[in-house]
Amino acid sequence: MAFMRQSDPAPAILKVALPLPLRQTFDYLSNGIPVQPGCRVRVPFGRSRRVGIVVETAMHAAVVAGRIKPIEAVLDAQPLLDAELLANLGRAADYWCGAIGEVLFGALSRALREDRAPTDFTEERWRATAAGSAARDARTRRGGSAALLQTLGDEAFSASELDTLLPGWRAAARRLAGAGLIERTQSTADAPHARDGGAPVLNDEQADALATLLSAGEGFHPFLLQGVTGSGKTEVYLRLTERTLQQGHQALWLVPEIGLVPQALRRLRARFNARIAVLHSNLAEGEHARAWLDARSGEAAIVLGTRSAVFAPLPKAGLIIVDEEHDASYKQQEGFRYHARDFALMRAQSLGVPIVLGSATPSLETLANVEAGRFTRLRLHRRVHARPPSPVHVLDVRGLKLAHGLAPALLEALDACIARGEQALVFKNRRGYAPVLLCHACGWHAVCPKCEKPLTLYRGRRQLLCHHCGHTERAPGSCPNCRADALIPQGQGTERLEEALSARYPEVPVLRVDRDSTRRRNAFEKLLDRLAAGGPAILVGTQMLAKGHDLPNLTTVAIVGVDEGLHSVDFHAGERLAQLVVQVAGRAGRADKPGAVWLQTHEPEHPLLTTLLRGGYDAAAALQLGERMASGLPPFSHMALLRAECAQRDTVEGFMAAARDALARPGSNGLLRINGPFAAPMPLRAGRHRAQLLLESPQRPALRQALAEWLPRLHALPQPRGLRWSLDVDPVDLY
Ligand code: ADP
Ligand code: ZN
Ligand code: ZN
Repeated sequence: MAFMRQSDPAPAILKVALPLPLRQTFDYLSNGIPVQPGCRVRVPFGRSRRVGIVVETAMHAAVVAGRIKPIEAVLDAQPLLDAELLANLGRAADYWCGAIGEVLFGALSRALREDRAPTDFTEERWRATAAGSAARDARTRRGGSAALLQTLGDEAFSASELDTLLPGWRAAARRLAGAGLIERTQSTADAPHARDGGAPVLNDEQADALATLLSAGEGFHPFLLQGVTGSGKTEVYLRLTERTLQQGHQALWLVPEIGLVPQALRRLRARFNARIAVLHSNLAEGEHARAWLDARSGEAAIVLGTRSAVFAPLPKAGLIIVDEEHDASYKQQEGFRYHARDFALMRAQSLGVPIVLGSATPSLETLANVEAGRFTRLRLHRRVHARPPSPVHVLDVRGLKLAHGLAPALLEALDACIARGEQALVFKNRRGYAPVLLCHACGWHAVCPKCEKPLTLYRGRRQLLCHHCGHTERAPGSCPNCRADALIPQGQGTERLEEALSARYPEVPVLRVDRDSTRRRNAFEKLLDRLAAGGPAILVGTQMLAKGHDLPNLTTVAIVGVDEGLHSVDFHAGERLAQLVVQVAGRAGRADKPGAVWLQTHEPEHPLLTTLLRGGYDAAAALQLGERMASGLPPFSHMALLRAECAQRDTVEGFMAAARDALARPGSNGLLRINGPFAAPMPLRAGRHRAQLLLESPQRPALRQALAEWLPRLHALPQPRGLRWSLDVDPVDLY
């Protein structure tokens, strides 16, 4: 460090992060241009130039100056990443073993990762003109134009909101703007506030929960708001958000998946007159940048989004909500493997703001934090509309004759439901027609050539698809092995259930909801709109159906094929199964009609199922936590999983052996357990051999210490061509 006199312009050294998978920053000279941490700069790098983010500025001793290159330009007058975000992203990179440059660039809106000025993305808001409102009321417009006028009503909407509520709106916007029916507008100068008269009177439990939340005041305070779907959690979030806005602060709302954003946005818009920045991966790049910068400037009072919205800048942060906090979608499963809920907790702590984690089925991690006294739990036991939880009937199917996998009693329940004019949901967590295509003559079955696992039959598309690697081939008409015309689909997927139920109920719409049927943007939303209108219907679907959509006419829920979850090698499976059953069962009987849930199983005496049915989620979670504690599993220990894969098995094995050797020997204190290397539960995928090495410690600092020493050594190992490896801290699955 050299001491600078005031008169010398400080020749500072800038530590610059570049978007590279490297754990280091690079030094550049500022060249006398004033620049703050969090600003982007353009720098020479090798033979090209790159955009970098300044992480730190430091004075330097004159001697080294000659070897350090100067920056070319400063791209931002004000930091894009403020001090809080920069510091926390650094901590996150450390915690989840990310490369600092990738973490910082990952937090920026995509368009801003390039040499583009924030001023390229000025706010864009639209509203109807007087003529537009008249056209809406007179219904003179059709199709997309009518929908846009309807969505706008008499208010201004940002491009990110419109992109969320009405994908493809721009074509209609051009037509309407051309006709003078809508116009771009400056945002109102109104302070953000709750609208008059929108809010229901809280019930006692909601009022108690809110009182506790409000009395905790400002400052970091983590809460768990536990209540079944329909118990009024969102209403509590809204009230809390109201106070945040009154205080002139920003609220961040996270939901686990894109499908839940539109309904959350509608509720926020209905309650508040406030600017809302919406952030998710379905936005056009420019829209995302606009919304991100709106959060950055503090103009957006509410920031709503999915996982990566947890990186939004919040210069006026006042509150963080993480809805469905147990959802595994909050964990990023590639690249920088962060957990959005945990990063939200990290940020809330350093921002000094309250954070509310909401769920009907809290994660075991969160429940352990409640038990340890670190989180305050608030409960909503009853559903708002005074319906008791639906009874769950267990159907022991051992020895029963099943029709397409459905027991007779279950079919009778469906018959009765349809006869009452109500809706039913048949849940099956398996896509496609059948998970196996078997030759009855010779025993051949279709197998993925790259994974050696059975291929799933998709009958409508006449295809065989591998759910592990995406490999597809044409479904054969006869056995490729013995040429017999004897191929039979084994087992049931959603497509087969849809077919069977359509045949049984020809008069009733049978709708399949899974990733295949809702791939198109908004298809899921449209489907739900159709159902909300009422009338008998049967929904067949995978876990997409478990999420909190309100279907008032849905009274009967059938859960089939959960037994797989009872036998998984992954210790997370029991927790997931309990969550899934409770979430799916929670869809039954919401408004004014009682519901019933049918659970079909070959193992009615399995302790997890019996505990769940007798004691509900709390009892099942307690059972799981007890088992985890007894076996020293998370959250009572901490894990990091090294995964590696390569087309050559020798290469993977060689790398893993070297990785194992690169680990510091565990001390005699027993704080670090090393398991493996061993083959992954799925040893071959997409033609690549896969291996794992699991590190475990009862103490977080011991694990972090071991990782800090190990990671540079892993990077220093010879990296064979074609080998990929990753380190996953707190993995949410062991595959
Ligand atoms: P959750 O988020 O727990 O699923 P919601 O907050 O969405 O529950 O509430 C379920 C339904 O009940 C919503 O339609 C909501 O508008 C309504 N609701 C919530 N609280 C009240 C209340 N105190 N009085 C009347 N209706 C309410
Ligand atoms: Zn055959
Ligand atoms: Zn495959």
